[in-house]
Amino acid sequence: MMWIEYSRDRVHGGPGWEFGTCAWAPTINRANRRWPYWISIGDVERGDMILHLQESREGTFFVGISEATDDGYITQSKPPYPGEWDDFSEFYRVDLKNFQPFQESIGLRDIFYIHDELLRNYYSKKSKSEHVFYVIQNSKLQILNGAYFSPITLDLYNILFENNIISRKTHFKLDKVIAGEKLSMVKQRIGHSEFSRKVKYNYNYKCCFPGCEINDERFLVGSHIERWADNVKKRGDISNGLCLCVFHDKALERGLYYITGNYKIKIIESKSYTYSNVYKILKPYENKTIRKGRVLPSVESLNRHYQRSIK
Ligand SMILES: [Zn+2]
Repeated sequence: MMWIEYSRDRVHGGPGWEFGTCAWAPTINRANRRWPYWISIGDVERGDMILHLQESREGTFFVGISEATDDGYITQSKPPYPGEWDDFSEFYRVDLKNFQPFQESIGLRDIFYIHDELLRNYYSKKSKSEHVFYVIQNSKLQILNGAYFSPITLDLYNILFENNIISRKTHFKLDKVIAGEKLSMVKQRIGHSEFSRKVKYNYNYKCCFPGCEINDERFLVGSHIERWADNVKKRGDISNGLCLCVFHDKALERGLYYITGNYKIKIIESKSYTYSNVYKILKPYENKTIRKGRVLPSVESLNRHYQRSIK
């Protein structure tokens, strides 16, 4: 996943809470409410990328990128310079590392100007639950006041950064700032996490293996039936996904079982000698039907998984 941190001051919280080393916000606002652009800090996962958007006298610019050291969390420790949040006692925080400043900042005004139509279109089509960093106000694109920390989907990322952005001085692309390989890794990560979220939603956040009761999101994955690398066309397609707990995901990936065209579990016995204990756990569910989501798994993908597993 990828996020934008939109900050206005360089102090950022003081020693140990500096800009580029963490993102933080109170857990509730002055109205005693949770604010989506703060809650989002708690949704960051280790390895997520954070783009830093900063306001200055010259305007608002993307100034660098960093990586989340760990998942976001809630803490009772307070930054030494909490600014206007001095009377708050609980904060979201995510620790960041490898801050890389961009050699040339990317002006938000230029981005809004160049991609005006695409950004409007994106805004009008996005779901209500997606809290993006900008709004349309007085028929103009504007940064949303208070949009401190917001997600960027792959589609939004592509609009913002995939085309040539013409700043007043120079032409450049984000992939010239971040090494090409790293950028494609970042994009792949965003793609993975979006896929995973959609698949889990499709199965209502429960492992679909028969009899499995795991419904804690931290133990669930949006598993690929056909591997990410094997089928480019099926990559974002949720019919190529199953919501499984980490145990049943691992067993599927290792080819210890497969799912038939009528969605029944079949154990692949040929590997039982190396996984005897795991087989004991899987065996009673042979011929049982998986729990189905709204979108059914693709029979073609299940078949390919079977072919790969019996090799
Ligand atoms: Zn399970």
